[in-house]
Amino acid sequence: MVGENGIRENEVAVELPPATDAGLVFIGRILTPWSTRMETPRQGRHDGPLCRIEIYEPWRQALQGVEAFERLEVLYWLDRSRRDLVLQSPANSGKLHGTFSLRSPVRPNPIATSIVKLEGVEGATLMVRGMDCLDGTPLLDLKPDRALFKPSAPPQPRDFQTGDDVAHSCKKAW
Ligand code: SAM
Repeated sequence: MVGENGIRENEVAVELPPATDAGLVFIGRILTPWSTRMETPRQGRHDGPLCRIEIYEPWRQALQGVEAFERLEVLYWLDRSRRDLVLQSPANSGKLHGTFSLRSPVRPNPIATSIVKLEGVEGATLMVRGMDCLDGTPLLDLKPDRALFKPSAPPQPRDFQTGDDVAHSCKKAW
């Protein structure tokens, strides 16, 4: 039995480089029914339990207009994750996978995203379904689901660019 932050057979941890400060600020917190990882869903569902997203001051004004969207994209910080594994064995299966080929909470920068169903807005609190995080998880950002969002600025030629035939396409450096 491996504890919540334990390492499984053949998993590979590395020494974490010194932290750099990206200047992130926690803009709120997510209140959910789950207090242990064992009971937290691996991915949220739109028919899952109602959760609350509380926005802190001074960000509450930034909620203006969110009620127009049926779904929001939520970015959050999995604050109780270890961050040093490069190879992981989900469910202790014995098979190893690179961290960037997984949606595991264990990653160098434990940023998670979910598309949630917005059920209502009560002042500075959003009622949502579709979360999969521990109670009290810090909130990084909220955006409208991109499938529902139409920019208010008129379309630009760059929005329709396809293929590689452009002046600044990404070139291999080798
Ligand atoms: N939906 C997000 C994504 O795909 O980016 C997160 C998926 S991740 C697999 C969800 C799992 O992260 C949960 O089942 C739980 O085990 C873990 N988790 C949730 N909240 C956490 C937190 N605050 N700190 C560490 N681990 C957390």
